[in-house]
Amino acid sequence: MNFDTTFIAQVITVIGFAVGLSIVVAAGRYPRHIRNSLRSYAYGKFLLGSAFLIAGLRGGGTPELFIPLANGIGLAGLTLNYTCVRHLQNRPVWPFGPAAVGGGVALCCLLLLLAGGDLSTVRTLVSFAASAVLLVIAFEVLVRYDHRGVPHYVTGLLSAALAVVYLVRMGAGLSQEAPLGQLVDDTVERATFLLSLLGTVIGAINYVLMASDEFNRELTKLAHTDGLTGALNRRRLFELGEIEFRRARRQGGDLTLLTLDIDRFKTINDRAGHPFGDRVIQAVTECCVGQIRQEDSIGRMGGEEFAILLPETGAEAGRMLAERLRSAIERQLAPLGAQGGVTVTCSIGGVSMTREHSQFSDLIAQSDSALYDAKNAGRNQVRFFQAPALRAAATA
Ligand code: GH3
Ligand code: MG
Ligand code: MG
Repeated sequence: MNFDTTFIAQVITVIGFAVGLSIVVAAGRYPRHIRNSLRSYAYGKFLLGSAFLIAGLRGGGTPELFIPLANGIGLAGLTLNYTCVRHLQNRPVWPFGPAAVGGGVALCCLLLLLAGGDLSTVRTLVSFAASAVLLVIAFEVLVRYDHRGVPHYVTGLLSAALAVVYLVRMGAGLSQEAPLGQLVDDTVERATFLLSLLGTVIGAINYVLMASDEFNRELTKLAHTDGLTGALNRRRLFELGEIEFRRARRQGGDLTLLTLDIDRFKTINDRAGHPFGDRVIQAVTECCVGQIRQEDSIGRMGGEEFAILLPETGAEAGRMLAERLRSAIERQLAPLGAQGGVTVTCSIGGVSMTREHSQFSDLIAQSDSALYDAKNAGRNQVRFFQAPALRAAATA
């Protein structure tokens, strides 16, 4: 098979438009950051398709205009691949980046041609710019991307490989002269176009896999999270509890569980209204999140009751943390309580794992029982569960 560069440019145009159209139509059904990413990717493909279309058409026209236009649009399209990877990770994006890169390249090409440069000078400049953008994309995907999988490695390596291809093309541009009127059709140019075509197809498949990976992660997060507070939901906290319980059992480590319930919450709702009650629940969650470590977990068990899982934490440290939480809530929620004419405090029950515990649900039941003791003792208190034998000895 012996395709010339004009034919390959036309194939890239068709594939670019087809891929862009399929993705832009599907994008609407996805969460915001994934949707933004899909749209950026699709617009990138439209620009790339347009660039190769213009490149194929320019023979009969005014090359001094067509060449900067095609290369500027192509580079803007390529830069959108970087934008879409940033969107996929919900990272900040400079919206004018693609336009700035594309405009800059177009302007440089125009100036070069007006100054009497030939096509190989343009080829050198554009190859350098394309290679730089591809390397930035490769770095973003291979190094900076969290939760990388196979499609990320394929995309990153593909970008790096294409960057090398464009560097070779840059070297070729340096060493030969080319007339302006038509597409260069030497071996290097054909190889570059063919590999760009291959990259467009393989890149599109792997990008869609990356977006699907991100969507699955988003769904998992939703399935694990309580909608009002952003804390874990009951089911996820139980799952983590089981995992930590087994780990502590196996390794002989510590584990403490706290159960926290807002005091007289019915009164808060009655006096200040249900929406205010919701704000209190959210503020209590934020206060707790601010006090616990990264490796601890907080889950909303229902209503205004929370469970806090503290791995590698024994009874003494658990009690100290529970007391710190109780007093932080009393102190930090005082201004919000004052707005609604109520006092916000909480009671906390806790239990630390011992060899007597055979399953995680034992800890749940005993920290609930300790919470009940805290409520009975007058509320705004911390109580830890004591085994009946110890309790009898303590009161004797
Ligand atoms: P105690 O000190 O004994 O815990 O008293 P309490 O009033 O807090 O008692 P209880 O735990 O029985 O009351 C919980 C109330 O929380 C009952 C319910 O109407 C309210 N509630 C449950 N879920 C929500 C919610 O999502 N938002 C709001 N605002 N209120 C809720
Ligand atoms: Mg309550
Ligand atoms: Mg309750």
